Amino acid sequence: MKFLIPLNLLKIIEKLEAKKFEVFVVGGSVRDLLLKKQPNDWDLTTSAQPEDILAIFPNAKYKNDFGTVLIPEKYLEEKSIEKQKGFFEITTYRKESQYRDKRRPDQVIFTDKLEDDLKRRDFTINALAIGIKGVDKLLKKSIKTEKISVELEKSQIVLIDKYQGQEDLKNKLIKTVGSAKNRIEEDALRMMRAIRLAVQLEFKIEAKTFQAIKDKAENLEYISQERIRDEFEKIILAEKPANGIELLIETGLMKWIIPELKETIKTEQNYHHYYGPYNTVYKHLMASLNKCPSKKLEVRLASFFHDIGKPETKQGRGYKSSFHNHEYAGARITKKIMERLKFSREVIDKTVLLVKNHMFYYNVDEVGEAGVRKVIRKVGLENINDLIDVRVADRLGSGVPKAIPYKLRHFKYMVEKVSCDPISVKQLKINGKDLMEKLKIKPGPQIGAILEILLAEVIENPKLNNFENLLNRAKGLIKKDLKVTKKEAKEKIKKIQKREDQKIKKQYFVQ
Ligand code: ATP
Ligand code: MG
Repeated sequence: MKFLIPLNLLKIIEKLEAKKFEVFVVGGSVRDLLLKKQPNDWDLTTSAQPEDILAIFPNAKYKNDFGTVLIPEKYLEEKSIEKQKGFFEITTYRKESQYRDKRRPDQVIFTDKLEDDLKRRDFTINALAIGIKGVDKLLKKSIKTEKISVELEKSQIVLIDKYQGQEDLKNKLIKTVGSAKNRIEEDALRMMRAIRLAVQLEFKIEAKTFQAIKDKAENLEYISQERIRDEFEKIILAEKPANGIELLIETGLMKWIIPELKETIKTEQNYHHYYGPYNTVYKHLMASLNKCPSKKLEVRLASFFHDIGKPETKQGRGYKSSFHNHEYAGARITKKIMERLKFSREVIDKTVLLVKNHMFYYNVDEVGEAGVRKVIRKVGLENINDLIDVRVADRLGSGVPKAIPYKLRHFKYMVEKVSCDPISVKQLKINGKDLMEKLKIKPGPQIGAILEILLAEVIENPKLNNFENLLNRAKGLIKKDLKVTKKEAKEKIKKIQKREDQKIKKQYFVQ
């Protein structure tokens, strides 16, 4: 097995080792390397104290009160490195004392033993460490190749695995280091992390860990909304997010995150989906979320929340019930939930907009250009494709086989058609006023005719579209009888408009 690590990581390790400190790659980076995944960030642990790290890297800064040091990558670069942005996080080997507030250790105690540090980590798969042998030589060799990443052979690394992390990686298990009960009780955020990792990696949560989460779910109350949101966001963006939502409900955590979801479990759909596999609002939301074609956070969230207003607006019972205006109730509830979870203003506004407009109506031959313009005005051209993605998720989540039916393709075509610049005399680099001034002619049909003829010529050859040239051509035209030429020009423009329209139609496979 080979490991690809950034050259900049080697530089950091080399600098610390030169001062006789120990340093290991740890946490998620090792887990992901072993899973052959690209690590999300690079975590290092070292025997150096925070002040030592800052002395070696003067541009580094403290990330938190616990002495975690961030090294912004830009300070390590000799030349600009496009792909690898971000920070390296270095923590000093530490033990953690009691956690009386269920979220933070009362005190952080630095130690000089790697083992102590691995022991305080949350899960066995996150408690693996990699040491790199002969870093100085490796670095010299690697710098010569000018590559930004270095490939390490198995013989060049030392893998430290005190808690059967490799075994659990093989068995796809999320399991706490040491007593599940204690570790979950110490820090309630670990419950969210367990579920987030289970969903991201498609792993199972080991039985005792799972039971401990169930037993301590209410402790989530002690965790800040921001930290809950960060983990929730990662769940929503995973490949199969609905599995994470199910786990949050099964463990009882959802009650402390989105209690509003509970009503959707009890609410039956109406005749549209009454007999299908997704016959409750909750089942439909889960299916929509899992089938959402977009990886954008707002689109995922909107697919998840789009019908959350249904329980509140339901009228009647069973097959014939209705959910009039549920999209507006849904938008209001979505806003409330997202504000509570401290999402950014932009993310909230866009998600709410998508939820509010998810019922937009379109039917070929029934809704014309004006109707399509109205939808564009409401959601903004830049959001139309995202709104279509929410509709696709909604459809697939209702159990219909085809994601993009003719109707949606036709809608896309209409959007493009009405948002393209129309072919018009406004595109000319000369206007009626110019003609009147320069050619000393009076207002009248002659001006329109000249412009029309010029436009036909410019469409044919866009290079002709400059003021001098158009003026010269216009001078020639005023002497002629324009009636015939104007008619020809009009026909030509019509033909070109039709050709353009055919092109867009072809692009969306509509007639
Ligand atoms: P990601 O892929 O999101 O970076 P990660 O597991 O690396 O996942 P980080 O937040 O980068 O998550 O944390 C780095 C490491 O620090 C973890 O792998 C784990 O060893 C340790 N860690 C993070 N949070 C906790 C916690 N709440 N309790 C114990 N250890 C933690
Ligand atoms: Mg990490």
